[in-house]
Parts: sequence; structure tokens; C-alpha cells
Amino acid sequence: MNYSTVTVLATLLGAAWGSFLAAWLYRYGVGRTVVKGRSSCVTCQATLAWFELIPVISFLVLRGRCRRCKALLSVRYLVVEAATAIFFGVTAYFLASRGVVSWSWLVTGLVAVFFLSFIFFFELYYSIVWSGFLVIGMIGVLVGNMLLHIPFLGLIAGALVGGGFFFAQWLISDGRWVGEGDIFIGFFMGFLLGWQKLLLALFLAYVGGAFIAVLLLAAGWLKRKDKIQFGSFLAVSTWVAWLYGADIIGWYMTMMRS
Ligand SMILES: [Zn+2]
Repeated sequence: MNYSTVTVLATLLGAAWGSFLAAWLYRYGVGRTVVKGRSSCVTCQATLAWFELIPVISFLVLRGRCRRCKALLSVRYLVVEAATAIFFGVTAYFLASRGVVSWSWLVTGLVAVFFLSFIFFFELYYSIVWSGFLVIGMIGVLVGNMLLHIPFLGLIAGALVGGGFFFAQWLISDGRWVGEGDIFIGFFMGFLLGWQKLLLALFLAYVGGAFIAVLLLAAGWLKRKDKIQFGSFLAVSTWVAWLYGADIIGWYMTMMRS
């Protein structure tokens, strides 16, 4: 398979997962299960036809409105579907452009971005992650990394440092600084990244988080007492560290030596 085929297929896969994730987010919010029942319009309850369920495209063709009652659909569907499609596509394109089109790399990357998009959006909208789902993710990325012959001890060290970092804060603050979900995110990050890239991801999340918080405060979009969805920053920084971690660490080492 060439470059563009891989990228297009990954983008479509991302859009399909995004469609499911958007429905999951919506149903979580109203206390329904995501595995049962067809999707329906929130306003008129009409069951959606297959052609109304095509990620991104349906939303654009219907101009964001229900076909029957013309009620506005939540723009969240479009945002989640488009974002996951982009996350998946960029990940595949990145691997392909570096000549790493082996199945193990591709599958590990897509499994990683699958769980990272879950973390990103659930943290963003509800400040929550389902830890049981993240445990599946930890097993997934660990198996992927084993297939890639990434040293096992480095991954275990990463998980202990990542999980331990948040667990210690959780313990000291009695759960006020970080939530239990952050501990699971820390473990997941470590199993995916290994200890070196994990440290980079934590650094990027704190620096990026502080930078964006200052911008939002200055713009008046954020009040001092508002909570920042730190888990979403962790998801993005983990993605960046997975893709560019080796480059950034290499560049830093060269800088230190000269
Ligand atoms: Zn409707």
C-alpha cells in the first residue's frame, strides 16, 4: 500500500470512530447506553437513515439541520468527527512519510490515537474518563510496543513514573489537584511512550496548558475559578510526544552537548 491509500483509509477510519464517539458523548450526557438503539434526532425523535449517519458529509449536506423538523443539530458531531478524522489521517501520513508503513507501526499508532481521542473529548466535555476503557488501551499499546521491539523495561518505567506522578498528587491533595482519571491517563501515557517521551509529554502539557490558560484569561474566555481540562492537554501532548518525541529529545541532546 502506498502513502496516500494509507492516509485516506486512516482518515475514513477516524471519521467512523469519531461518529461513534460523538454519539457516545451525547448519550453519556443524557444517561443512555451507546450500544443499544438507533441514532435519532434529539428534537423530533425521528430515527436517522443510513445516509444521515455518514460522518462529516451528512452534517455538511444537511447544513447541520434535521431533515424532518429542521432543528439545528449539535455542532459537536461535526467537530468530533472532523477532529478524529484529522488525528487518524495525520498519524498515518506521518508514519508513511517517514517510510514506516509496517503494519505494527500503523496499528500501534492508530490504537494510540483511538484512545487519545477518547481521552481528549471526554475530558473536554465532561472532565471524566472511563478507566476501564483506558485499561484496555494500556494493554493495546503495550502489545503494539512489544511487536515493535520497544524495550519493555522503559515502558514499565514510563507507566510507573506517569501513574505515580498523578497518584502522588492525588494522595497529597486528597483528590483536589488531580482526579482518579488522571492516574489512569498517566499509566496509559507511560505504556505508550516509555519514560523519556513520557517526561517530554508531561512537560509539554504543563507548558502548553499554562500558555493557553494565560491566553484564555487575557481574552476573558476563562475565569480564574474555572477548571482547565488538563486531561485534554495530556492527550494532545502525548500525541505530539509519540510522533515527534525522538526528534525533540535528539535536538535537545545536541543542544546540551554544544
Ligand atoms: Zn428532527
